[in-house]
Amino acid sequence: MDNSKSTGVIHPVRYGRKDRFSFMCHKGLSCFTSCCRGINILLTPYDILRLKKRLELSSQEFLSLYTEVNLLEKTDIPVVSLKMLDDEKNSCPFVRDDGCLIYLDRPSTCRYYPLGVVSLSHKEHNQEEDFYFFINESHCRGFEENREWSIEEWRVDQGVDIQDAINAGWTDLIVRKRSFPMNIQLTEKSKQLFFTACYNIDEFKRFVFESSFLTLHQIDEHTITEIQADEISLLQFAFAWLKWILFKDGNFSLDPEAVNRRNATKA
Ligand code: SF4
Ligand code: SF4
Repeated sequence: MDNSKSTGVIHPVRYGRKDRFSFMCHKGLSCFTSCCRGINILLTPYDILRLKKRLELSSQEFLSLYTEVNLLEKTDIPVVSLKMLDDEKNSCPFVRDDGCLIYLDRPSTCRYYPLGVVSLSHKEHNQEEDFYFFINESHCRGFEENREWSIEEWRVDQGVDIQDAINAGWTDLIVRKRSFPMNIQLTEKSKQLFFTACYNIDEFKRFVFESSFLTLHQIDEHTITEIQADEISLLQFAFAWLKWILFKDGNFSLDPEAVNRRNATKA
């Protein structure tokens, strides 16, 4: 999948993690914050988790106030983007003259910029097949600075190595689905499950702990304690569960007696 912040000119060269480039972004540049307007910022599940915490909102409140939902290009997978303001320049809601209001929790796409990344493999942790490209926007003065990085150094400096590791299960779901022919579509119910599990973590938590989910699924006590206490663990549990539900891949199983009891009450 591709996450690129901007619709700027994409340099048609594939770069790897060892490739080097010169770049520096700082307040002294005349272009400062100009890349935070008129853009498309795809939000990853972990971006949403961090931003709703930062803004002290529920995931539903954050989604309603700050995002819009679309289907990913050439797929039927729901994806969430930051909703730009309806001002003259379609500014990001978090940009101010002196920088980004939520800088420490800025989305992965903003961290990568001026790079974009494409993941080609649907095997989690197989990042060797990822490639990177530059978004060359004419107003961006950062390329004139002489600080040199390898792409790997940039990823670590910006914290996207950690973000990518947490989101790996989500990227895997998207790349898998993209590898299917377009005529194999997700049902509306599957799309809704995908949306809730990946983006609305509070609702997914209610689904797991306040429905028959834990009665029907055979989940060990350690995992239950972990996902109850830690939202990142819950998110990764959500990705693994979706992989099982959508692609029949994984170690989940249903308790046959609980399923029979539920079916009997439905009949
Ligand atoms: S140098 Fe590039 S990334 Fe930094 S503020 Fe300017 S346009 Fe944005
Ligand atoms: S979230 Fe921050 S860094 Fe990203 S576009 Fe908005 S203001 Fe810029």
